[in-house]
Amino acid sequence: MEEVRSFGYLCPKCGKAVLGSRSVFALQAAAVRIGCACGESELEIQTDGTKFRLWVPCGLCGGEHHAEVDAAAILTGRGVGLACPETKQLCCYAGEEAQVRSAMEELAIRAEKEKCEEKEAFTDNVIMYEVLSELKDIAARGGIRCTCGSTAYGIQVHRDAVDLICRQCGGKLRLNAGTDEDLDRLCCQMTLTIRGTKGMTVV
Ligand SMILES: [Zn+2]
Ligand SMILES: [Zn+2]
Ligand SMILES: [Zn+2]
Repeated sequence: MEEVRSFGYLCPKCGKAVLGSRSVFALQAAAVRIGCACGESELEIQTDGTKFRLWVPCGLCGGEHHAEVDAAAILTGRGVGLACPETKQLCCYAGEEAQVRSAMEELAIRAEKEKCEEKEAFTDNVIMYEVLSELKDIAARGGIRCTCGSTAYGIQVHRDAVDLICRQCGGKLRLNAGTDEDLDRLCCQMTLTIRGTKGMTVV
């Protein structure tokens, strides 16, 4: 099987986590671009054989960053994270697909959480914070999926609830996040299942 490496970043335009994989062969052969589905941002990766150069659209500060990384760090091992020089937080990951995927899910949740903290528009800030942390934990163990089979989802945060929305079919799972009971209910769940819209009959 051909060896594949993955890259992830947060789109500064639409806020989604962008994840792409390329074979080691393709990465060494020519410059590679991984773009967001919204068409507004693109990660560029080039190598001279010993080093990789990356141009990373940054979902944290909205700028673009340039990084140079040893080829071995990109092509072998679990992977590397690249930090935004403005916010000092990791905004891009490269390496094994599973590692990059879980790191990107955490990053997307964290970015969402920070956006929320700025707004302070919740029924109960502490409960919302705890609910988002709990979601992060469930996501980290791969516990969020949709009945349509997809594990890709987006998060929408409201005043007293969080919606998980399936990227594939648009199915939605609403989690209340306003009271202690809401938090207790979430904490005892090992997995969360979004009810997909596929297969439903419209009457
Ligand atoms: Zn985008
Ligand atoms: Zn940045
Ligand atoms: Zn779905």
